[in-house]
Amino acid sequence: MDPRGRNMAVRTKLVAGNWKMNGLREDGVALARALVHRMVAAGAGGPGCELLVCPPATLLTTVGGLIAGSGIALGGQDCHAAAKGAFTGDISPEMLADAGCTHVILGHSERRHGHGEDDTAVHGKILGAWRAGLTAILCVGETRAQREAGTAVDIVASQLAGSMPSQAEPDNLVVAYEPVWAIGTGLTATLEDIAAMHAAIRTRLPAQTRILYGGSVNPQNAASILGLGEVDGALVGGASLDGESFWTIARNCPSPQPPPRERGEGGPLGASAMRHPTGARTRAPKGAGG
Ligand code: PEP
Repeated sequence: MDPRGRNMAVRTKLVAGNWKMNGLREDGVALARALVHRMVAAGAGGPGCELLVCPPATLLTTVGGLIAGSGIALGGQDCHAAAKGAFTGDISPEMLADAGCTHVILGHSERRHGHGEDDTAVHGKILGAWRAGLTAILCVGETRAQREAGTAVDIVASQLAGSMPSQAEPDNLVVAYEPVWAIGTGLTATLEDIAAMHAAIRTRLPAQTRILYGGSVNPQNAASILGLGEVDGALVGGASLDGESFWTIARNCPSPQPPPRERGEGGPLGASAMRHPTGARTRAPKGAGG
């Protein structure tokens, strides 16, 4: 058990809402209040998984104030690698932490494809996030053409190899598998493809590192996706903008199961099987900041 009473031997599911560039203050306040209301009504058990919301930067402090103490965590949608400096329009990991964030989404396909971010840039941002004590949510995923060409696993493996620092541990990194063609399109990967990709990713991560699925998750498909053994939660875009939809997705998380004994024996990176809860890290990750 960790200091908050969580069982560290299980991979508690995490449902994260990526609000993207949506919401004025009034919208963010309403959505945050709707989620807090449901958390309070649900009582001690909450929805049965960890909840994280990632509003636009302009709403971080407002939403952070409203969700404080509710058990819902706050995350940023991107950050610069540096702590400060002449980077007009950027936001540093330290600024996110200062605003109350415990997590930051990095390498989202809308950053990779819309802003030309490559694996090297994402790698640097993850190190920056760790320096500030944030857990990085590293997004990976193939395009439609790459899936049709049969190279999806190779692409994702290459993204992991290029962007995931060697100091990754279950308490500083979450991976989100997001097929690019499924994001915001209403299309989802088949359960077989999700399971196969998560299994492939699993072999490349430290044991107990959580792997989320993202790509048009909604209240109708959440139960089947979140019911897959290797799916440790969801990164939700569109459906996270509606309190009832996001809550329903979270409520579809099956109870956490203790992992098979062999999963505690370490992945290729030989990391510890221990993982921190959703809250901020309490120590600097090994070698972070370089
Ligand atoms: C996302 O933006 O990470 C995402 C998965 O979006 P959507 O759920 O809308 O497909």
